[in-house]
Amino acid sequence: MKQKRAYKERFYPTPEQETLLAQSFGCGRFVYNNTLRFRTDAYYKDGKSISHSEVEKRLVSLKKEFPFLVDVSSVILQQTLRDQQEAFKNFWAGRAKYPKFKKRHSRQSMRLTKAAFSMKNSQLFIAKSKEPLNIRWSRPLASEPSSITISKDLAGRYFVSMLCEFDAKPMPVSNKTVGIDLGLTDLFITSDGNKSGNPRHTRRYEQKLAYLQRQLAKKQKGSNNRAKARLKVARVHAKIADCRMDATHKASRTLINENQVVCVESLNVKGMIKNPKLARHIADANWGEFVRQLKYKSEWADRTVVEIDRFFPSSKRCSCCGFVHESLPLSIREWYCPECNTIHDRDINAAKNIRTAGLAGLACGATGTGVAA
Ligand SMILES: [Zn+2]
Repeated sequence: MKQKRAYKERFYPTPEQETLLAQSFGCGRFVYNNTLRFRTDAYYKDGKSISHSEVEKRLVSLKKEFPFLVDVSSVILQQTLRDQQEAFKNFWAGRAKYPKFKKRHSRQSMRLTKAAFSMKNSQLFIAKSKEPLNIRWSRPLASEPSSITISKDLAGRYFVSMLCEFDAKPMPVSNKTVGIDLGLTDLFITSDGNKSGNPRHTRRYEQKLAYLQRQLAKKQKGSNNRAKARLKVARVHAKIADCRMDATHKASRTLINENQVVCVESLNVKGMIKNPKLARHIADANWGEFVRQLKYKSEWADRTVVEIDRFFPSSKRCSCCGFVHESLPLSIREWYCPECNTIHDRDINAAKNIRTAGLAGLACGATGTGVAA
């Protein structure tokens, strides 16, 4: 079965490429923000919503008005408008907030379609640059990419993400099914009693980060030293994000390799992240990303991820006899079932219930990968 996946690699631009990329990011951002301003004004002043084709036509006149836009590949400008259209679609469908303006001091990115890049002898060339990108390949590509995204993070690192088709091979069928309870003390707890532990990446780097942030606060606004200090802070943040992503990938890979069916509770992570006390730990645990990885890895391997409704009383129900405990404060980690005399570890019991509910949902044929129960 053909599937799509992104191969993300780091690259090191030549000084000329660095200038070209800075210019391209800047022009893309300019067109995006200018158009967003135009659309917002039209909507709030005249109650008009502007269509994508109108916006595309407007790009032609923008280029005449601002000749510097001609110096970069026009694909970048068209793609940024397409991204904006997607952002608006998500907003109208109630899936996202109103599109935001792009900032100079955040992560920069641009998308290129086939018209603006080419592969020759396993080397990647982009429009308006004669030299190939100096990519540190970590693995070969499965096919020629259909589109690429070039980004620069806050730590000043350049990445290219290449979207390729590949032949997904189903894994041999496994007879194991697992239920997973997502937690804070542990990233996840499985129904067979495994507790993952939570690598608290932030805590490891907390002192260093605090020191660097104090240094940054002392620097004068707009000075070179401030820019240097900001970069140092960004590097530690990048390190934390890398560690977190690595741990999440390893965990999701193991679960999909070992189990035919993985049952998880669907969590309203966004809602929980509003609680400021929990927010940092939740961001640390990377739950949303963890479930996303489980889903796409299961699709590739022809395995199943079942999501259970989050209001399902997984902690309070006895996984042996079905007795439901009336109240069970979060502080109680172990409890005793008066009906069947079982002593439950709170989280393992929850994971067992999630497994049962997931399998029940599957038996009804109503759920499967990516579908909420
Ligand atoms: Zn019981």
